[in-house]
Amino acid sequence: MQDNSQITLQGIPAAPGIAQGPALVYVQRELEVPQYVVSPDDRFGEVARFESAILRTREQISRLRTDVAQRLGENEANIFEAHLLVLEDPALIEETIREQSAIGLNIEAAFQRVVRRYVEAFSQLDDDFIKERVTDIRDVARRLMQNMLGTQPSAQSPAGDAPRIVVAEDLSPSDTAAMEKDGVLAFVTDMGSRTSHAVIMARSMGIPAVVGLHNAVSQIPNGSELIVDGFEGTVVVNPAEETRTRYGRLIQRRKELQRKYESIATLSSLTADKKPFILQANIGGPEDVAAVRKSGAEGVGLYRTENLFIRTDSMPDEQTQFEEYRKVLESLAPLPVTVRTLDLGGDKSTSQYRFSGEEANPFMGFRAIRYCLENPEVFKQQLRAILRASAHGKAKIMFPMISSVEEMAKARAILEEAKGELRHRGQRFDEHMEVGAMIEVPSAALIVDLLAEHCDFFSIGTNDLVQYTIAIDRVNERVAGMYEPMHPAILRLLDMIFKQAKAKNKPVSVCGEIAGETLYAPLLLGLGAHALSASAALLPEVKYFVRHMRMDAMEKVAKEIVTQPTAQATRAMLKKALFSQLTDLENHPDDVVR
Ligand code: PEP
Ligand code: MG
Repeated sequence: MQDNSQITLQGIPAAPGIAQGPALVYVQRELEVPQYVVSPDDRFGEVARFESAILRTREQISRLRTDVAQRLGENEANIFEAHLLVLEDPALIEETIREQSAIGLNIEAAFQRVVRRYVEAFSQLDDDFIKERVTDIRDVARRLMQNMLGTQPSAQSPAGDAPRIVVAEDLSPSDTAAMEKDGVLAFVTDMGSRTSHAVIMARSMGIPAVVGLHNAVSQIPNGSELIVDGFEGTVVVNPAEETRTRYGRLIQRRKELQRKYESIATLSSLTADKKPFILQANIGGPEDVAAVRKSGAEGVGLYRTENLFIRTDSMPDEQTQFEEYRKVLESLAPLPVTVRTLDLGGDKSTSQYRFSGEEANPFMGFRAIRYCLENPEVFKQQLRAILRASAHGKAKIMFPMISSVEEMAKARAILEEAKGELRHRGQRFDEHMEVGAMIEVPSAALIVDLLAEHCDFFSIGTNDLVQYTIAIDRVNERVAGMYEPMHPAILRLLDMIFKQAKAKNKPVSVCGEIAGETLYAPLLLGLGAHALSASAALLPEVKYFVRHMRMDAMEKVAKEIVTQPTAQATRAMLKKALFSQLTDLENHPDDVVR
């Protein structure tokens, strides 16, 4: 009998919001396959069971294919074509039947052995394409095995029926991309951290998330009722009546606050002492444009262009990229859109770009601008597409993961080549498009004055800057507790960046996740940030708070804060200095900043 008593799991609060609903457990553990002797007379019965499971599996995959094609598009559906090919592979079928006869055990035991042999043989081949097929074989074999065993198929479809809370060991950015905004209420994972890209995507989709739970998959039964608190990082399984009521009230309260924040979203961005500030949005493609408009953002501070590559699992050609970028620029014109060039690597990859899995330290490896400089044709193709799109709106361009002056100079030289090619073709582009660098590697932070000679602006990527400065892998849940943007070293580094850039008269924005947090945002403005860029969903709340604060107070606290010895002391000081000003807010800040 299932135990229905309430349990509470504590993880890392990753994306804000509270959700309540049934769990959809995304299990990827080995299935338990029974083994028993089958007499030779029953052999045909075993083969018949195998064949009818193949038929059932074929029907399921075909249904899934049609469903995904309708909901998400042909590209996403193609994966299921590959699954059908594996399922109908005659070698796999014949070998299983032969194996059953040779070992005299049930058909599931024979099938399991054959699949293991296939997977082992394929995994040893040094060919990325074949290695990819191993994933297909595993998926199909699992589904077929479940059909033979008569167990519930696990949640392998990204297209669930009723809205659910997805519970998984880990989710990749492509898993998250495949989640429909309305189909998933929240997600909780055993692995991951606040700045893994799957989480960043969840945040921009407005989906609450709790990560780094270690054993949620083994503790949460499929279908059980859950409450996910993305502010506190808690997941309540089988909530008792009293817990439901308490969270019901919180959900209600959150809705009211959100309405209040949204009511000021399009009002002017002026502090209480009438100083202007700029809030911009981080986006992943044209699908985010509507949210940008609704949020009141004054443009886009970070357009993560790799999302198109991940979403389509391809290297889109120049025309495809151009059309995508143009859509964004045209629909947001005259607002500026800062287009970041390809940042694949780390936790983001596509089938054509799969170095990360093979690198011991993918975040410090062949990532972002490093990949582009080594592949100038791929890079130029993207640069031409961005340049052409710049004729249809207000574009700026920036390069990710710059770590030296040489890299910046090389990237600019390739940009000049791309411009030359367009002139030769007679295609229009904005000759005055500004060019900037992301400051997200400590070596770049230390030479902002030198980089300034090659840059029109800077944008600080704190997600990476924090991981590289404190040596905390941003996707490793074991050290996620040490990921601390308020570490005194980070604050000193930020202070240095702003001062160096100011001396060179170059604007600096911040586009890491902390720019969208109510506690950090005023500090960043006080330190000298020209603009803050974050997920559109977070901007109204930030605006609400900053509008109630004085810029001179933010600047004062920013000066004092760099002397604080610990993150804890910094946070306490910030809360005291900034939130004490919020006397005209009806809500106590501790209630609002959860
Ligand atoms: C960052 O590193 O802070 C950033 C904005 O870029 P990304 O999260 O895409 O690495
Ligand atoms: Mg980054």
